[in-house]
Amino acid sequence: MIARVTRRPRQKRIVILGGGFGGVYAAIHLEKLLERQSAVEICLVSHDNFFLFTPMLHEVAASDLEMTNIVNPLRKLLHKVEVLVGDVHQIDLSAKRVSISRSFRNHPQQIGYDHLVIALGSVTNFYNLPGIAELAVPMKSLSDAIRLRAQILRHLEEANSECNPIDRQSLLTFVVAGGGFAGVETVAALNDFLRQALPFYPNLCEEMLRVMLVHSGPVILPELCQDLGRYAQKVLARRGVEIRFNTRVKSMTEGNVSLVDGLSIPTRNLVWTAGAVPSPLIFSLPCPKKQGRLLVNQFLQVPDWPNVWAVGDCAFVPDIRNPGKSHPRTAQHAIREGNIVAQNIAAVLLRRPLKSFSFKTIGLFASIGRRIGVARIFGFNFSGFFAWWMWRTVYLSKLPGLDKKVRVAFDWTLDLLFPKDVCAVHDFDRRRDFHRQDHTTNPVPPPPRSMAPGQRQRASSRFGRLIITTSASNSPSPPNTKEKPARWLTVTASRRSKAISPASHPRAPMPIAESL
Ligand SMILES: Cc1cc2nc3c(=O)[nH]c(=O)nc-3n(C[C@H](O)[C@H](O)[C@H](O)COP(=O)(O)OP(=O)(O)OC[C@H]3O[C@@H](n4cnc5c(N)ncnc54)[C@H](O)[C@@H]3O)c2cc1C
Repeated sequence: MIARVTRRPRQKRIVILGGGFGGVYAAIHLEKLLERQSAVEICLVSHDNFFLFTPMLHEVAASDLEMTNIVNPLRKLLHKVEVLVGDVHQIDLSAKRVSISRSFRNHPQQIGYDHLVIALGSVTNFYNLPGIAELAVPMKSLSDAIRLRAQILRHLEEANSECNPIDRQSLLTFVVAGGGFAGVETVAALNDFLRQALPFYPNLCEEMLRVMLVHSGPVILPELCQDLGRYAQKVLARRGVEIRFNTRVKSMTEGNVSLVDGLSIPTRNLVWTAGAVPSPLIFSLPCPKKQGRLLVNQFLQVPDWPNVWAVGDCAFVPDIRNPGKSHPRTAQHAIREGNIVAQNIAAVLLRRPLKSFSFKTIGLFASIGRRIGVARIFGFNFSGFFAWWMWRTVYLSKLPGLDKKVRVAFDWTLDLLFPKDVCAVHDFDRRRDFHRQDHTTNPVPPPPRSMAPGQRQRASSRFGRLIITTSASNSPSPPNTKEKPARWLTVTASRRSKAISPASHPRAPMPIAESL
C-alpha cells in the first residue's frame, strides 16, 4: 500500500520584536485581522512578560499606585500570539532570522520570519557623562520607578538618623535632570511624595528638603506651548521645587552633582530623564537611519526590505503632511502605528492595497503634582484642576484591562483618604544577606558614612540599634570604598568566582550569581 502524503502549505510567520506600545498594539490588531487565517502564526518577543503603561510610571515612584497596577501580562492581552520572553540579540535581515536568548539560562534560539515588525523602543542616553550611568536613576522601566521609590525611602530613613548636617543635606537633596514631560511629572510627584512622607520622620522637616529640576532650555515642557510651561514653573516653584534653567548636568559623584554652569550640588539623588536613543540593535542594521532611528516609508516599511516594518520610538516615521519631519515619539503615535502596520501586513498577505500612516496629535497632558495639570487639546490650552482631571480620565481610559482600570481607580480614591505608604519593601540595592556581601573588598560591616572611624563607637551607643542596623547593611560605604550598586557586585563576584574556584579555595564565599 502506498501512503499518501498531503503537504500542508508552510505557515507564514510574523515576528514582532518589543512588547511596548507599538509591538503590543500591532499584535492585538494582527490577531483580529488574521483571525481566520490558519496559515499565519504570530509571535512576539520581549524582555518582560508584561506591557508597561509608561504615562503612569511616576505614580509608582511616588507611591500613588501599586506597581502591578500599571502593567498587564502579555499573555492576558494576547490570546493567539505566541509570547516569547527573552532578549533579542541580533537581527539578520538577509537570512530573515532573529537571534534571541530565553530564560535565566540564556537559552539561545533562532527564529525565522516572513514579516518582521521592529518595535524595540528606546533606551536611556547618559551621554557618557562621568558617573551618571552608575549613580543616577533613570525613569524608563518599572524597575527604575521601584528603585527610585526605594531610594527615596532609604535616604529618608538614613537622613532621619544622620547627625552630620552636611551628609543629611545631601541625602535630602533630590535633583531631576530633564524638563520634558517625564522629568516634570517625576519631579512634581517626587516632591509631593517627599513632603507627605516627612511627618513620619520626627527628625526631619520641610526646610531640610531640597528638590531641584535642571532644564537645558529657558522654559520647561517644551513639547507644550510656552504659556503652559511658565504656568507649570510657577506651580512647581510655589510647591518648593527649585528650577535651574539653561543648564545641564555635567557629572555626578557619590555625593555631588555638577552642572555645566559651574554649580555644584551636594546630593546623593539624581533622577535622569534627560535623554533617550533608539535601541542599540537599530545601529547594527544595514538600513538607512535618520536621527539614529530606522527610516520607514509612509506605509511603515523599511525601504529595500519590503517585509520588514518598524514602529514606535525606534522608527523615523515621516509626517506626510509636513515633508522632512517625523511624527513625535509618543505612546499615542506608537499605538496608531501598531494599528496601521497590522493592517498593512494583513494587506500584503491578502493582496490588498497598503495604507499610509498619518495621525495628528489629539492632545498632550502633564500632571504637575497634586490635583494640578496642564493640557493642550486641539490647540486649546487648559491648566489647573480641570487639566489634571482630564489627565487622569484620559489615561485611565487608555490603560488596558478592566481589572487594572478598577485597581488604579481604587488606588487613586484611597490616596485621597489615607497618607502615602512609606514601606521600603522593594529596596533591592540594600543588601542584608551575609552571603551576598562582597567579603574580599568589604570584610567588616562599615561604619556609617557620616562618621570617622574613631567616632563610630560613640555614635553607636548614642543611637543604639538604629545605627548598628544601618551600618550592617551595605548601604553606607566604608571611608575608602565606594558604595557598589547591586549590578557592580554581581560583576565583581562573577569575576572573582573565576579567579578563586571553590576547588582551589574551599572557604571562598559562594559566587553571587549562584547564591542569588
Ligand atoms: C516616564 C515616561 C513617561 C511617558 N509618558 C508619556 C505620556 O504621558 N504620553 C505619551 O504619549 N507618551 C509617553 N511616554 C513615551 C512613550 O512611553 C513612548 O513613546 C512609547 O512607549 C513608545 O512605544 P514603543 O513601542 O516604541 O517602545 P516601548 O513602549 O518602550 O517598548 C519597547 C519594548 O521593546 C522591548 N525591548 C527593547 N529591547 C529589547 C531586546 N533587545 N530584547 C527584547 N525586548 C526588547 C522592551 O522591553 C519594551 O517592551 C513616556 C515615556 C516615559 C519613559
